[in-house]
Amino acid sequence: MGNAVATDNQLVEIAAKVNQRLRITDDDARWLWKNASDADLCSLAGVVRSRFHAPDACTYMVMRIINYTNVCVAQCDYCAFYKLPGADGGYVLSHEDVFAKLDELRALGGDLAAFNGGFNPQLPLSYYCDLFASIRARYGDSIEFYALTIAEFLYLADHAKLSYGETAERLKAAGVRWITGGGSEILTEDFRARHSKFKYTVDEYFFAQRAIVEAGLKTTATMVIGFDETLDERIEHLERTRKFQDETGGLASFLCWTFKPYFTQIGGIEITTSEYLRHLALSRIYLDNIPRIRTSVLTQNERALDGLRFGADDFDLPIEDEVTQKAGATISLDFERILTYARQLGYAPVYRHVANASQ
Ligand code: SF4
Repeated sequence: MGNAVATDNQLVEIAAKVNQRLRITDDDARWLWKNASDADLCSLAGVVRSRFHAPDACTYMVMRIINYTNVCVAQCDYCAFYKLPGADGGYVLSHEDVFAKLDELRALGGDLAAFNGGFNPQLPLSYYCDLFASIRARYGDSIEFYALTIAEFLYLADHAKLSYGETAERLKAAGVRWITGGGSEILTEDFRARHSKFKYTVDEYFFAQRAIVEAGLKTTATMVIGFDETLDERIEHLERTRKFQDETGGLASFLCWTFKPYFTQIGGIEITTSEYLRHLALSRIYLDNIPRIRTSVLTQNERALDGLRFGADDFDLPIEDEVTQKAGATISLDFERILTYARQLGYAPVYRHVANASQ
């Protein structure tokens, strides 16, 4: 009974902070994760969401991830996608391959592409600049593209022996507007030492992202959960993200998705959708300085839309992503069924077209 009273008091104190637009602490986040009910998390996430969005509002985009190469030297143990240089099955897409994928995207009603490949030592900076400039020349503003993830950007800068600032400027001159926050997974040094020791440190990640913002490019925050990360590691990731946003204001959105373990070196089982949704809510409550919180149809299918009740306001309808599909993700092109589910939940989804949105 005494414990129940203490628990209620803590919830009341945290709720009061959220209602007064005060920030929750790391300890508050830890407490919420361990003790708050789903209903409490939904309610608090709804308070923060309502500062940015009407209760029934949500947006979406039809997009494809273009995996331009699967050749990679990083050897992350959670990856089922990569091939080492010289191994059978390694590939690099030509401009024509990429154009065909973009044309198919447009035919399906989409207008956003996100490039994601590997740390391929055979690809010079000119491959990227030529590819992105040719896309901008061919499609103008009718398509937008996320050019690289931060992780690939780090490798590209190292490989080209250029500073992060110079690399960002070269890409910008080639027509690039976005470098997204992919390759973050869990942003703690311990996590990276355990699973991806060739994929750059957390400090390097944020150093590069700051250079990207300072070059006038847009960027986003991402997170992947469901490996072996601890609660403290999840909260450290959120803490570093919130701090970076305080300092730069450069993060347009936060997208979290779940690890798909199939055919990976570390294997394991997927976390439940319920755990994912609770984390989404916690992220919305904690990241009070990021207006757009995105839920992952790619890894949760239409159940991702339950995330709208847990604080999210935006989602992609993907048509392809080889990286997660290789590890077990399934994609449906029945967009209407997914959108109908959003409507059944009480939301009015609106397409966020790239031509009239800043993403
Ligand atoms: S996750 Fe990315 S960086 Fe890591 S091995 Fe796979 S392709 Fe390479």
